[in-house]
Amino acid sequence: MNFQARKRRAAAAAKTAGLDGLLLTHLPDVRYLCGFTGSNAVLAMAGGRAVLFTDGRYTAQAKAEAVGTQIVIANKPALPLACEWLVAKGVARCGFDAAHTTVAALEAMRKAVPAKQRRSMFVASESFVARLREVKDTDEIAKIRKAALLGCQLFDEMLGYLRPGLAETAVAAELEYAARLAGAEAMSFETIVASGERSALPHGRASTAKLPRRGFVTMDFGVVLDGYMSDMTRTVHLGKALPGEREVYDAVLEAQEAAVAAVAPGVTAGDVDEAARSVLRRVGLDKFFTHSTGHGVGLEIHEGPRLAAKQTQPLKAGMVITIEPGVYMPGKFGLRIEDMVLVTASGGEVLTPSVKAWIEL
Ligand code: ZN
Ligand code: ZN
Repeated sequence: MNFQARKRRAAAAAKTAGLDGLLLTHLPDVRYLCGFTGSNAVLAMAGGRAVLFTDGRYTAQAKAEAVGTQIVIANKPALPLACEWLVAKGVARCGFDAAHTTVAALEAMRKAVPAKQRRSMFVASESFVARLREVKDTDEIAKIRKAALLGCQLFDEMLGYLRPGLAETAVAAELEYAARLAGAEAMSFETIVASGERSALPHGRASTAKLPRRGFVTMDFGVVLDGYMSDMTRTVHLGKALPGEREVYDAVLEAQEAAVAAVAPGVTAGDVDEAARSVLRRVGLDKFFTHSTGHGVGLEIHEGPRLAAKQTQPLKAGMVITIEPGVYMPGKFGLRIEDMVLVTASGGEVLTPSVKAWIEL
């Protein structure tokens, strides 16, 4: 993992934006830049140097993880200490990530600097690190690949477990237990199991509802391995399909495959969204596709780029995105199919190769 190169890129982006310092408090950003995974961390950067501020619980861990970054074990809150360091380094304009800074934290930051600098020192900036994190390096891709494949393995295991009458929570429990046994550090997010009429809820958290004798079961889940997340959705059918269900499934599958096929460097995120949406529009189902087509995945479950209508951001080789169109018909049923896709030099590679064809159990 080349943390030095990552820190250099972040510093260069800040400099281009007219900033001479950076204050990083969002933990995934800190982890990305220096490798530290503890729960209390502030990374301050200025003048070609980076200092990690954390507390005594993390003395050994910080030393082992944040190799190549200066570490300060603080016996008082890390944030003001980091601000004092930035002042001592002569920083005049320090970028901070407004999206992840509370009003209280900003007040504490301002209090920590001399009165004359209070108004000018901290500049709400674009999250440079979030932008850098969109394009994954080789190490990250290897980790994401492993997490994605574990997701596929879990889905296969679940096919042997699903049956009418099981509570959705029992399905989630089984899946999460199998994930942990297989080495997952955590689930990427709260496992979604939505069955029968509840499959019409795009984010139906597993409830005590029982799987129906006939109907869809949507499972959307992910695992965390070595900090990196997976995210996939499959929808299977219990019992024989009712009239119309198979047609909707096939339309969503066609939309999903069209969007996967559209993935390539230089193609805009909006174009990929449109590739899925236009298939559903052709069969009059687009009004039931009520969310965006996908998102980046990495150290966090939702990262850039956002794949939604009219997004002009071009895809780049090394991005890892999801493609997840769905159709949700309130009071009836819904379904979604989601893969993770790596943007390669020439197109897209599906990282979640679980079967997508109609499954009837
Ligand atoms: Zn998902
Ligand atoms: Zn997703």
